[in-house]
Amino acid sequence: MRKKIVAGNWKMNTDYTEGISLFSEIVNIVRDEKKGDQIAVICAPFIHLNSLAKLGGETVKIGAQNCHQSESGAFTGEISAKMIKSAGCEYVIIGHSERRQYFAESDVLLAEKTKIALANGLTPIFCIGETLDERNNGNFFEILKSQLVNGLFILGAEDFAKVVIAYEPVWAIGTGLTATAEQAQEVHAFIRAEVAGHYDAAAAEETSILYGGSCNPKNAEELFAQTDIDGGLIGGASLKSRDFADIVKTFN
Ligand code: 13P
Repeated sequence: MRKKIVAGNWKMNTDYTEGISLFSEIVNIVRDEKKGDQIAVICAPFIHLNSLAKLGGETVKIGAQNCHQSESGAFTGEISAKMIKSAGCEYVIIGHSERRQYFAESDVLLAEKTKIALANGLTPIFCIGETLDERNNGNFFEILKSQLVNGLFILGAEDFAKVVIAYEPVWAIGTGLTATAEQAQEVHAFIRAEVAGHYDAAAAEETSILYGGSCNPKNAEELFAQTDIDGGLIGGASLKSRDFADIVKTFN
């Protein structure tokens, strides 16, 4: 059975005090109300990570939103996968569209980041997604395939088995424009078929594929009910404890 995961991505929001307080609220609600074996994760700003892991890492897992591609060295201002792991994290988001767009992160670079994350015992949540133009041009399946092939399929089968994929259509992020359940399912099924084609059917069956993009307590149930949608990567709604917990509870 593949894992069901609801991961929050706080992006560059919350100062330290706000982050601690929001996370405490989330842990309390999730601890009291979560019933199933779904995994809740919060991917917070770097400076929060160690405190959050100490506060509630048993109940809600902790993730970072990025890591550097090198083990260590003279890269002023950067954070390594090893540091993230040592802070108590289990997850790291790799290749979010905001990193691809604003920090020019290429598939080749993201492949390096994924490898170093795995080498340090982190679970990468590897993001792919098409822009509105790419969707409208009708070539989005090719775009998604190239993101998979160049960013992820460089991994051997053993490493690939540890990766979580997130499909986040860029046009649905922060816009309130959610992909319909049918649109999301269509892409998730495509991704699973690509995994089966490159690795094998068993690998495809075991890969958790999350949906992200304006996911909220109202639409989560229909999205997560789709055969190939195994949870969500939640932006705005993860900054509200009640909303995030309600999305987690969708799997109760
Ligand atoms: P929103 O849920 O705010 O659309 O953001 C999605 C996202 O980018 C999560 O990584």
